[in-house]
Amino acid sequence: MKFTKILALVLAVVMCFGILAACGTKPAEDPANDANETADAPANDDAKVFKMGTNAAFPPYEYKEGEEFVGIDIEIATAIAEKLGGTLEVVDMEFDSIITAVNQGEVDFGMAGMTVNEERLLEVNFSSSYATGVQSVIVAEDSGIASIDDLAGKKIGVQLGTTGDIYATDDYGAEFVTQYGKGADAVIALKGGDVDAVIIDNEPAKAFVAENEGLTVLDTEYAVEDYAIAVKKDNTDLLDDINEALEALTADGTIDTIIAKYIKAE
Ligand code: GLN
Repeated sequence: MKFTKILALVLAVVMCFGILAACGTKPAEDPANDANETADAPANDDAKVFKMGTNAAFPPYEYKEGEEFVGIDIEIATAIAEKLGGTLEVVDMEFDSIITAVNQGEVDFGMAGMTVNEERLLEVNFSSSYATGVQSVIVAEDSGIASIDDLAGKKIGVQLGTTGDIYATDDYGAEFVTQYGKGADAVIALKGGDVDAVIIDNEPAKAFVAENEGLTVLDTEYAVEDYAIAVKKDNTDLLDDINEALEALTADGTIDTIIAKYIKAE
């Protein structure tokens, strides 16, 4: 072989490895990412695309890494869609719009660290619960607020339409509660001193505190809740399918593995 040919061959091999290495650094083996890539959908034209309505600003359940949707709910939903012979499409929206989107058929189900409660049960059906959520309180480290009792008369930030919003309004009065579209915006308001505390689910609370210096999560459980998947009331076939898939994914350890990937035991 001529030297130039050998050189070309060596270059080609090096380039191949380069490409492979690049692929390796992209978390392509992560099932969550399949959710974002319709190009990965099976060739089977009958494969159903399950649309999941969510609010991807709620780490570690659903959030964005660059353009990719990632998180516990995204991965569980991807696994459910696969079990049901389809693929997942994530539709990102305000948390407050998810139940309407489910009922108008814009999405097949809603999954957003969504707590089962009586008001919502009037509007949608919920799957069996796949996780526990705890409402927590974030304050500034130097706030002097040490417990839930200290919140009386304080300004509280919440995410609009969440259970944190409902409890805070019930317990402390609407005039003390400011609603934000995203949990992250409530946290920005807390940092800026516009509110004295933020009531939000524990895992996002921990994620927000980790990203923002000077904040802390009170060591009190304000409420303990069940997260489940919301399905339109007349869509009982899908509800049954989701419950069966959840049961199988619980039994084979998939759900625990996904949760453990995002929530490290303390
Ligand atoms: N668990 C809370 C609720 O269902 C918050 C969910 C969320 O903000 N994504 O209201």
